[in-house]
Amino acid sequence: MADYDVLIAGAGLIGASLGCALGQDGKARVAVIDAALPVLQNHPSFDDRGLTLSLSSRRILSALGLWDGGLSCTASPIRRIRVTDRGQPGCIRFDAAELGLEAFGHVVSARNLGQALMDKLRGTKDVEVLAPATVSAVRSLRSGIEVSCEQGDTPRKVTARLLVAADGANSPVRAMLGIPVEEKDYVQTAIVANVEVAESEPETAHERFTEDGPLALLPLGGVRHVLVLTVARQEAERFMALPDAELLCHLEARTGGRLGRFTRIGARRAYPLKLIRPSEQIRDRCVLLGDSAHAIHPNGAQGLNLCLRDMAELAGLLRQQLQAGGDPGDRELLDRYLNARLPDQRWVVGFSDLLTRIFYNRDPVKIVLRNAGMILLDLAPSLKRVFALRATGIRGRQPAMVRAALN
Ligand SMILES: Cc1cc2nc3c(=O)[nH]c(=O)nc-3n(C[C@H](O)[C@H](O)[C@H](O)COP(=O)(O)OP(=O)(O)OC[C@H]3O[C@@H](n4cnc5c(N)ncnc54)[C@H](O)[C@@H]3O)c2cc1C
Repeated sequence: MADYDVLIAGAGLIGASLGCALGQDGKARVAVIDAALPVLQNHPSFDDRGLTLSLSSRRILSALGLWDGGLSCTASPIRRIRVTDRGQPGCIRFDAAELGLEAFGHVVSARNLGQALMDKLRGTKDVEVLAPATVSAVRSLRSGIEVSCEQGDTPRKVTARLLVAADGANSPVRAMLGIPVEEKDYVQTAIVANVEVAESEPETAHERFTEDGPLALLPLGGVRHVLVLTVARQEAERFMALPDAELLCHLEARTGGRLGRFTRIGARRAYPLKLIRPSEQIRDRCVLLGDSAHAIHPNGAQGLNLCLRDMAELAGLLRQQLQAGGDPGDRELLDRYLNARLPDQRWVVGFSDLLTRIFYNRDPVKIVLRNAGMILLDLAPSLKRVFALRATGIRGRQPAMVRAALN
């Protein structure tokens, strides 16, 4: 008999969420292995980055018991979105109230989300956290999978009926399984920092396109915002080293004062941007989840939201299967999971890639066309509605966990 029903490699935001979801009804023997835990302070996934959580993510976190009275207390709502283009008249305005929504989504810090997930995971008695432990090899067995890991200096082998590789965009487990990836380097780097912006429109997220790359500003409450500044890769070092005062001046110039007055900037972090797509998401008794299954450009703030919907679908199917005494590594179940999730994945991955092509562009003709498109879109409420609802993640077929939170 295998040691575990489900073994999750990686307790980042997605692996930890799956652990919480599977530990809810005590039917599964689950373990989560992570290389960076148990210390949260320097955990690479739980940094100070502000993450935009869509409505679907909020519902999933509610279903996990993490939202009401928890994350909701530190989350900042986004009730308006403004998309502008430097030096051009085009502007697309989205207002949640016009669509009958309370908010498009919320901004939470990755650190707060990580802390909430880890607290929940540690309080879940059916989930074992093996950490710090690094997965070093994976071997297929007849009725399970064997995972070798290094826990401190001690090598250890554990077996499971299903292995979930939630070990990030550069997934070592994916490489161990020999799954090839298609990689598109955007040759851009996102520089993320908390900033203070005076005279800004409250509860409003901005996406501003400039010939030097897009800039996003997400509300954290009052003057506080998260800045996501996308720059060409070769410029990243220079931007990271720029004194605060100079960077604030640059931001002022890049936004033309339209987003408010930049007065302070906190510590900066740099993230090289790539699209990573594996050729398969399922192998014998293994499934890729989270950024390991698709890592995308953060321009539409959709990466984690998409991964959470995948997680919710997989968790729902696994819980049903385990409650019925079935095999969690059953190929038919994994195929069902993937078939349910592929349409949403294709749409989000394709759309985020399309955005980089439309908006990271210096060709004057394309800039004029883009602007005309923005003006037309702003004048077409029904089309705007389709885009806005799609971004909230509540359009189309929903995982059961999202549907349950609706009732
Ligand atoms: C700049 C930026 C801004 C973003 N903003 C947004 C946003 O606003 N909204 C949104 O929806 N998404 C956003 N995203 C995307 C989001 O951050 C990711 O989709 C999400 O963090 C992926 O989580 P994950 O758990 O799959 O991977 P990770 O967070 O990378 O976690 C992987 C885990 O695996 C562990 N691990 C790795 N290798 C091993 C091993 N060999 N053995 C054991 N453990 C291992 C690591 O320790 C880690 O804990 C943004 C991304 C970036 C870069």
